[in-house]
Amino acid sequence: MNDASRPVAIIIGAGLGGLLSAAKLVRSGYEVEVFERLPIIGGRFTNIEYQGFSLSTGALHMIPNGPAGPLAQMLESLGADVNIVRSDPMAVIRLPAKTGDTDYISGYKDIPFSDFAELLSAFNKLKITVLTIITKIFPPKNGSLEEWFTRYIKDEWLVKLADSFCGWSLSLRGADLSTKEAFMIFSNLYRYSGPGVPIGGCKAIIDALADVITLNGGTIHTGKDVSGILVKDGRAVGITVNGSKHTGDIIISDIGHIETNRLCMDVEPSGEYLRYLEQLKKIKPSAGVKICLAADEPLIGHGGVLLTPYARRINGINEVTNIDPNLAPPGKHLAVSHQCIQWNKFNELEHEIDLGLQDIEDIFAGKKYKVLLIQSHSGEWPVNRSASGFDVNVKNTTPIKNLFIVGDGAKGEGGIEVEGVALGVVNTMEIIL
Ligand SMILES: Cc1cc2nc3c(=O)[nH]c(=O)nc-3n(C[C@H](O)[C@H](O)[C@H](O)COP(=O)(O)OP(=O)(O)OC[C@H]3O[C@@H](n4cnc5c(N)ncnc54)[C@H](O)[C@@H]3O)c2cc1C
Repeated sequence: MNDASRPVAIIIGAGLGGLLSAAKLVRSGYEVEVFERLPIIGGRFTNIEYQGFSLSTGALHMIPNGPAGPLAQMLESLGADVNIVRSDPMAVIRLPAKTGDTDYISGYKDIPFSDFAELLSAFNKLKITVLTIITKIFPPKNGSLEEWFTRYIKDEWLVKLADSFCGWSLSLRGADLSTKEAFMIFSNLYRYSGPGVPIGGCKAIIDALADVITLNGGTIHTGKDVSGILVKDGRAVGITVNGSKHTGDIIISDIGHIETNRLCMDVEPSGEYLRYLEQLKKIKPSAGVKICLAADEPLIGHGGVLLTPYARRINGINEVTNIDPNLAPPGKHLAVSHQCIQWNKFNELEHEIDLGLQDIEDIFAGKKYKVLLIQSHSGEWPVNRSASGFDVNVKNTTPIKNLFIVGDGAKGEGGIEVEGVALGVVNTMEIIL
């Protein structure tokens, strides 16, 4: 029953974006109800227990900006009790042993990410130093990261590294990431630093947020598929779930602009709404494949990211058990690779996975491991509902009053993955509260 003195917020979807919003609103005096279609909460950011290993429904148990980033700051401000441990080293780049080699089978060397410029010629090193200063003052606005590198520093190495970094962190190629978004991401990496791993994996964050919501009187319903958003006089007034209506003062959707728009069946689009629909056509989700590996001995040996720019398809691998051993059975290790699936390769998924498996054989040649699970992410369960840099310009709002979008379908600028989710929630709360 609604407490008439408090405004009511209805949240569609109990993914990270939905739960962050619910926790913030419940602590700000709203009566909050979250509706989740699945029997579990957390969406693409929770653990799946498999053969004693804590795998995940999506994410690689990594928080892109670690314990100082936007997500960590928001969790702390909400009183969500989570321990995020900084990855040290942040990232290491695996190179073939000899210049000119194209694979890792005949040997490899690992260099710290911060030494990437050592592989450039003296002239290109100078150019990158000068360009870094110039872009801080005049951030580039047009073209892709790959085009930017190719225009100013013609170096095959930088293009490969950009593909590996963007593939790992955004499931995009350097050619698909706008320079504007890329430079905002780089500046956030300087500001907040690199990744970290939550002790207990993704689920630790989801459980902590669920505690904040329920302890403050909010309700999370699972197994409740929202089938429509009720709109009256251009204003969202409620939702329908299993044939029954639930009214609210604000509706927050964690399922992206496109899916949310599908639920607004009563709207007769005109004017601003038609322009919004045009924008929705430009949204592109990002897709990827994760290969989960079990081993008796560490395959990587640190908790940072192993970037693999010379692999055929794998962009990078992490081994979170070097930070939280409890994510695997005692004495075992869990390593997970990620590869971006390009938009024109959706129909060749099995071939792409085969190439990823061949990469893993090369990268870990001579080491013993078992492939635990291969997970592909696209369509309605993508890596990002809206790939970085493809977010619509209405951001977290919609043409329908009191209807807001959070989650990775409406990320804050320069926020990698869940950092973008947190920044988007911050933007939304600034509008609402
Ligand atoms: C392979 C892969 C690797 C990744 N790695 C990382 C990483 O290491 N670090 C990182 O920061 N990010 C990573 N990400 C991205 C991260 O997982 C997502 O950005 C984040 O989980 C998105 O959260 P969300 O709340 O936007 O959406 P979701 O998690 O998708 O939540 C939406 C929820 O809404 C529910 N729902 C949908 N429709 C309805 C409906 N009609 N009614 C009710 N409920 C509904 C869904 O079931 C779901 O639970 C990765 C993603 C993938 C797939």
